[in-house]
Amino acid sequence: MTDKPTESPANKAHVDPTRNSQADVLVIGGGPGGYSAAFHAADLGLQVTLVDPEDNPGGVCLYRGCIPSKALLHVAKTLTEAAEAASYGVIFAKPQLNLHEMRSWKDNIVGQLTQGLGQLVQKKKIHHIRGRARFLDAGRVVIEQEDHKSEWVFSHAIVATGSRPIALPGFPSFSPRIMNSTIALELADVPKSLLVVGGGYIGLELGTVYAALGTKVTVVEMMPNILPGVDKDLVSVLKRRLDNVFADILVRTRVQALKEQKNGIQATLVDKDGHERRRLFHKVLIAVGRVPNSGELGLANTRIVKDDRGFIRVDGQRRTHEPNIFAIGDVAGEPMLAHKATHEGRVAAAAIAGRKVVFEPRAIPAVVYTDPEIAWCGLTQTEAQQQKRKIKVGKIPWGASGRALTMGRNTGLTKIIIEPESERLLGVGLAGPGAGELIAEGALALEMGAVAEDLRLTIHPHPTLSETVMEAAETLFKPR
Ligand code: FAD
Ligand code: NAD
Repeated sequence: MTDKPTESPANKAHVDPTRNSQADVLVIGGGPGGYSAAFHAADLGLQVTLVDPEDNPGGVCLYRGCIPSKALLHVAKTLTEAAEAASYGVIFAKPQLNLHEMRSWKDNIVGQLTQGLGQLVQKKKIHHIRGRARFLDAGRVVIEQEDHKSEWVFSHAIVATGSRPIALPGFPSFSPRIMNSTIALELADVPKSLLVVGGGYIGLELGTVYAALGTKVTVVEMMPNILPGVDKDLVSVLKRRLDNVFADILVRTRVQALKEQKNGIQATLVDKDGHERRRLFHKVLIAVGRVPNSGELGLANTRIVKDDRGFIRVDGQRRTHEPNIFAIGDVAGEPMLAHKATHEGRVAAAAIAGRKVVFEPRAIPAVVYTDPEIAWCGLTQTEAQQQKRKIKVGKIPWGASGRALTMGRNTGLTKIIIEPESERLLGVGLAGPGAGELIAEGALALEMGAVAEDLRLTIHPHPTLSETVMEAAETLFKPR
């Protein structure tokens, strides 16, 4: 079996068959955090063993998260743009959807990427075990594989076990009509109607996919706004469009009951005043957040500490309360984003290799890949208000952007947030098509300690959406 120690010189030297199997660095979980940590540790000359249940690394992000969702969002974008081309005189015939082809296309992308990672594992002489690890103490794990269990001794471990969807307590957990994100991404069919519970990242991204395919989508969000916590002016750009794309967006509303019926799921929805309404949906997507996979790791056999939400507590190097065990990615706290996991993985690997490193980004960009996209990094206006922090905000609506108009899209917003005295950049927020690509400039500017003047004086190409970043900076210098 391929999950036995490979015969590479690196592994041979460290496996003593008469005793427990040994790993210098044991990485538990093969998502963006785990595989980045494993690759970086191997590049730094450490002998690495990676444990993950899948045939190839990839984790949630590649198998049932970032990548399949973005593939389907691309399908949605194509459909939407084709329909909207009528406004400038290009009329396509009604599209025909071949779900089988769509699924294969998405699955092939996932296969291509995960197989590529598998090849890198071999190239970097990482020992990959297909299984699940559980701590016996701070120096040993038991690894459960399909047909046997084995005990491993490690010098260092990196926990990168990710997260899983929260199930709504008290609701039927298994019904073919009630989906979580993993099931929704399988795209078994295009239901006539879909209730999305949760107006966060997943609810809005997958709602966008299904709406573009022809489903009547209703979103129910318990907070006063969709994407709670994100700056309202950015969200309102999205909301205006979603109001036309979704059948309904019900905020301050909760789902009280979901009842399986012959022809669908009857949902009882309750608004903030306690008014109840019943509606029938063909399918329901539950997207109310994710919880860390920290419960079945045997952490009680170690001194590792979790917070009250189950996230593993770590220091600046991602070291847990056990000095030789690190934790990274979703299991180590918010934001639960792939690129945050990747960066932490590299920090933990470098720390184990004895490098002087610390995880202290000035900006972790966040992108909601809806249409339009919402993206932000650094300080948000909402956070500044909560912290009662003085800021200055430069804003440019996209109505005057030549590029936005040539794309047939004039609703969008770019804003930059600065510290009034030093004029140092504190945050960037964007709403509009391509916002997810544009935000990288903001992240770089923040990491480089840029001031508004730097953005203003940087020549941006014309006509591009990126000019709006420069123009937002310019507004801060104009007399008011
Ligand atoms: P994961 O990717 O969750 O990987 C953890 C791995 O550990 C899994 O393979 C799991 O099987 C394995 N594992 C668990 N327990 C054990 C054990 N005991 N032993 C061995 N292995 C174990 N983030 C973005 O940045 N951009 C996006 O566009 C984006 N889109 C998303 C879309 C969806 C639908 C979802 C659900 C998530 C999305 N995310 C996105 C979030 C992103 O997927 C996560 O932040 C990221 O995958 C976290 O990486 P990780 O390495 O911490 O863990
Ligand atoms: P989320 O936290 O983004 O959104 C969940 C939403 O559900 C919240 O707005 C919350 O108020 C609402 N909610 C909770 N309970 C509810 C209830 N009973 N009734 C109605 N609404 C309820 O969570 P998610 O959308 O499940 O995504 C999980 C995480 O995965 C995200 O926080 C993010 O870290 C990651 N993710 C990232 C991306 C991306 O980067 N583009 C995409 C998908 C997921």
